[in-house]
Amino acid sequence: MTGQDVETVDVVIVGGGPAGLNAALTLGRARKRVLLCDAGPPRNAAAEHIHGFVTRDGTPPREFRQIAREQLRPYGVQLREARVEAVQTLASGFQVVLQGAGAVSARRVLLATGMVDVLPDLPGFRELWGKSIFQCPYCHGWEVQGQAFGVLATQPPLLDFALFLTGWSPHITVFTEQRFELPPEQRERLLRAGVQLEERRIRRLLPGAEDGARAGLLEAVELEDGTRVAREVLFAPPPQQQSRVVQQLGLALDELGCVRVNAHYETSIPGIYAAGDLTTRLQGAVIAAAAGCAAASMLNHALNLESAEHGSR
Ligand SMILES: Cc1cc2nc3c(=O)[nH]c(=O)nc-3n(C[C@H](O)[C@H](O)[C@H](O)COP(=O)(O)OP(=O)(O)OC[C@H]3O[C@@H](n4cnc5c(N)ncnc54)[C@H](O)[C@@H]3O)c2cc1C
Repeated sequence: MTGQDVETVDVVIVGGGPAGLNAALTLGRARKRVLLCDAGPPRNAAAEHIHGFVTRDGTPPREFRQIAREQLRPYGVQLREARVEAVQTLASGFQVVLQGAGAVSARRVLLATGMVDVLPDLPGFRELWGKSIFQCPYCHGWEVQGQAFGVLATQPPLLDFALFLTGWSPHITVFTEQRFELPPEQRERLLRAGVQLEERRIRRLLPGAEDGARAGLLEAVELEDGTRVAREVLFAPPPQQQSRVVQQLGLALDELGCVRVNAHYETSIPGIYAAGDLTTRLQGAVIAAAAGCAAASMLNHALNLESAEHGSR
């Protein structure tokens, strides 16, 4: 290839999490030339195991990706550890610019970039994220059932989330930090369900002693006046952002900030498809993988018809 040549593939998949990997499997098996670019780290990098994914329950995230990548090999899918910096629309297809690795042209692009969790600056949060601080009980609730839960209620809907968590533990304290007015009827509902309320501000989250059984795990939530509320687990779904490449594209988003796709998983830019966490708040590895498969099938359908009609393969 000379400096002028640009490699051409049928599809560039941006992101190698469950959505991108399953899309690559589907497209590889459909005999498409596929380049999958992944910049890492995965969204669930802080977690030790993936739960709730049939046949993969309890698998470490790194192992999950390794198995998936091995299963792509027979189908000739190209994998590149590279960040996609930009996706440019051409008269026909797209130019995908890779950080430090030139550009690739593609007939279609599938975004599977996941979401960026914006972790709060609260001291102790980052260290405990994925170990004692979780976003979702379906992912980690079974492992911590019956323990002393805290819920960091940054917005009113998280009060209902606290009620919902009673399905996993009866020992729940909601920390509101006076971020919003608590209607008396909401207070009543929580107390009736046995959920404790703590409205003082949080100073930091404390792990157990380094030589003790709770080393690296949450032991207490320390309030601004020094009071320590013993807790073993904190549920705190953080705010999320779209990745930079998605923001740059200026795609239509819904009211929750998710990329809007039609029934064919196509975004507001024709030819650019999206699947996985970036399109929904119903987030989970198996859900993302299924969406990756569905989006790839739709995309492949469009490519096959295009090729059949215009002989462009
Ligand atoms: C702490 C934690 C624990 C979790 N545990 C579970 C669990 O037990 N079970 C479960 O079902 N779900 C779990 N989840 C949710 C699950 O991880 C996600 O729903 C799932 O990973 C989403 O898959 P995805 O492919 O959409 O995105 P991701 O897995 O986030 O993958 C997106 C990939 O795209 C890459 N990327 C982003 N931008 C670019 C770019 N410009 N160029 C190249 N690559 C890029 C990212 O680096 C990342 O590798 C957990 C989430 C968290 C935060």
